[in-house]
Amino acid sequence: MPKVKVLQESEDTIVLQLEGVDRSYANAVRRFAISEVPSMAIDDIVILENSSVLYDEILAHRLGMIPLKTDLERYVLPEKCDCGSPLGCQKCRVLLVLDATAKDKPRTVLSGDLVSEDRDISPVSPNIPIVKLAVGQSVKLEAYARLGRGKEHAKWQPATASVLTEGKGEGVFVLKVETSGTLPAKEIVTRSIEKLEEKLKELQKEVEEKAAQ
Ligand SMILES: [Zn+2]
Repeated sequence: MPKVKVLQESEDTIVLQLEGVDRSYANAVRRFAISEVPSMAIDDIVILENSSVLYDEILAHRLGMIPLKTDLERYVLPEKCDCGSPLGCQKCRVLLVLDATAKDKPRTVLSGDLVSEDRDISPVSPNIPIVKLAVGQSVKLEAYARLGRGKEHAKWQPATASVLTEGKGEGVFVLKVETSGTLPAKEIVTRSIEKLEEKLKELQKEVEEKAAQ
């Protein structure tokens, strides 16, 4: 029986000692925490007005890199959503609106200025700078966030670090996962194991089907 011991747990980090598992399994859990566990990020923006000095594409890139709190119970990956619509629906995308103008003095537009239609899906931190506006400049846009995976783009990585080291003794490993705040560190690990089991089940099904031929 595999044994797990929590060596350290805080808001953004979890350190687990894994005993009685193969290195390859432990390493797959580590890797899946970065590449397979989905998280929310802004993926599409519609610019209504942009008189800032930033090009639209740079603005879009900056918005994409803002970590968003994620709820994997209520949202699904667009490719797995039954709406089948490229525009998405309430289960596969979230609208965030930005409407900022520097009226009488320059201002820095921050992640906290984004207004989300779902308060559970909002920036992890309100203090991430997006763009500086001189007096009279405005940025107005609609940003659409969706679930994605780290293997598609780094902006969808829920873990900022996922490291496996040797523990004391044979078959003992230490897994350390740090979160960007999109998901609790513990949930990244449990989802990672869940995704790994899903993959193995798919593989098992494939083998059964193919081998029967
Ligand atoms: Zn949908």
